Amino acid sequence: MKRDYYEVLGVARNATPEEIKKAYRKLARKYHPDVNKDDPNAAEKFKEINEAYEVLSDPEKRARYDQFGHAGVDGNFAGQGGFGGGAGINFEDIFSGFGGFGDLFDMVFGSGRKARQGPVPGDDIEAVLELTLEEAVFGGEKELRVTRTETCGRCQGNGAEPGTPIITCPTCQGRGQIHQEVRTLFGRMVRSQVCSTCRGEGKIPKTPCRECGGSGLVRKTRSITVKIPPGIDHGHRLRIAGGGEAGRFGGPPGDLYVYIKIKPHKLFKRENIHLKLEKEISFVQAALGAKVEIPTIDGGTEILEIPEGTQTGTVFTIKGKGVPVVNGSGRGNLYVTVKVVTPTKLTERQKQLLREFEEISKQKEETLKEKFNKFKNKFAL
Ligand SMILES: [Zn+2]
Ligand SMILES: [Zn+2]
Repeated sequence: MKRDYYEVLGVARNATPEEIKKAYRKLARKYHPDVNKDDPNAAEKFKEINEAYEVLSDPEKRARYDQFGHAGVDGNFAGQGGFGGGAGINFEDIFSGFGGFGDLFDMVFGSGRKARQGPVPGDDIEAVLELTLEEAVFGGEKELRVTRTETCGRCQGNGAEPGTPIITCPTCQGRGQIHQEVRTLFGRMVRSQVCSTCRGEGKIPKTPCRECGGSGLVRKTRSITVKIPPGIDHGHRLRIAGGGEAGRFGGPPGDLYVYIKIKPHKLFKRENIHLKLEKEISFVQAALGAKVEIPTIDGGTEILEIPEGTQTGTVFTIKGKGVPVVNGSGRGNLYVTVKVVTPTKLTERQKQLLREFEEISKQKEETLKEKFNKFKNKFAL
């Protein structure tokens, strides 16, 4: 909560300008930061004194402060700030200098658009670009269709049919605003509205452009070439400067933001810069070891050596066959998870071999047991 300015300077509300000046000088000397280096509050106090003096020494500001308090002189309400949001009220006509009232007028009238705009930058637009995993890994160029507002090519954005003049708006006589007197609880006021004929510009084309109807803008669907850096990932965003909506009144266009979406791949799963793949091998390959072909994202294959006795779930690494580091160097790895598949449809011959295999395994086990028992007896364990 801000302190009362009269209180800050220690003067009465009806103090003369001389009294205010005297009080200010005394306090300013006392709290000047140069002479109060040890007092951390002095600077704050000094600021407060100056602020109070700035308002109370100015007859206009003082009058506003007396009537409306801090709200009447605060930076965000006063002067330009009050009009910043574009309250379409002509304060000069009503209060001549009572600029600090925008907020209140906004409530009474609703805010309107400011007339006579300067250059207005175009809005940014967003689009989604879907890529395959291969496109994301290797990058390249991709076409993207975007619908956006562009400056009309026929009239170069001025809204006039080529060869015809731009004239002063007859509705507002070039002011860009229409004034209207209204009664409010504060008395009679002049309310200004943006002229609907010229949209506040004060000028209109005598013959509107055939292409854009006089607006100077057209909606266009364009195919834009997007450069995809290798290694781009799902959720990344590319910015295409100037690819957004056209600006108005000479303002620059907005930007186009392209959000990357990557379609799921039927073989590979991506994890940051690495790729993952599941490879099924037979239990014979797992038991005896084997050389298996592994497909890579590059479109080729790599030979992976499975050592004998490999368990299901074992992960093998193929270095450098992952995803390039986006805007960097190097490439991630390809991780191959081996899945040992149990056979389901066996021929009688295969079954017989497996039974034999089992038989031999048992015997081996029994031989081991026997040996162990002999060993045990020998040492009477
Ligand atoms: Zn046009
Ligand atoms: Zn007009």
